[in-house]
Amino acid sequence: MSKWQSLGWDEAEEQVKSTGTFTRDFFLKENEEATIRILDAEPFNIRDHFVMGKGWFTCSVEDCPLCERGNKPTSHFVFNVLDKREWTDKAGATHSNEVKLWRVGVKLLRLLGKKQARKGPVNTYDITVSRLGSGTNTTYDIDIEDSTIGSEAELPEGQELYDRDEVLQPKSRSELLGILAGETPADSHSAEESPVPWKR
Ligand SMILES: [Zn+2]
Repeated sequence: MSKWQSLGWDEAEEQVKSTGTFTRDFFLKENEEATIRILDAEPFNIRDHFVMGKGWFTCSVEDCPLCERGNKPTSHFVFNVLDKREWTDKAGATHSNEVKLWRVGVKLLRLLGKKQARKGPVNTYDITVSRLGSGTNTTYDIDIEDSTIGSEAELPEGQELYDRDEVLQPKSRSELLGILAGETPADSHSAEESPVPWKR
């Protein structure tokens, strides 16, 4: 049974916790590329589960309902990035330079590590990420924008980095079970369901 309201200070905090934090994820479509700036010096390393139609859920490792259901967790290495692409929303307003979370897989992380060994910390230059193919044939490539090496990242006014510790924290068992049962709408969106039009 779900309640549409509650009363009290503690309940207010509970509600904030269970509503979660909306995050904007960095995502490339097939054969798309984007110039971005990584904003963190180090990856935030998690395991997570993808649930069709619900999005990504961080694995709590112990007592995880998704592991119990046989949904295999994936290792992801998460960075805040500044996406320099421009896109136009339905109302015709143009957006660019948005802070997003980038979930990097192990292959791409190693590629970033190689670039870092050669060109310095990954957050000290712009990179262009390109995606080729789809499904299990997806590969990514990274080009460093040499002219930007050593330049400061400029965060547009009003944009902040996500607190990765906070937004990637695993949901409680009961909350996760509720979402999986469809009682609560998921707040972490999947790329397919993104409210953000990925139009450039
Ligand atoms: Zn799990």
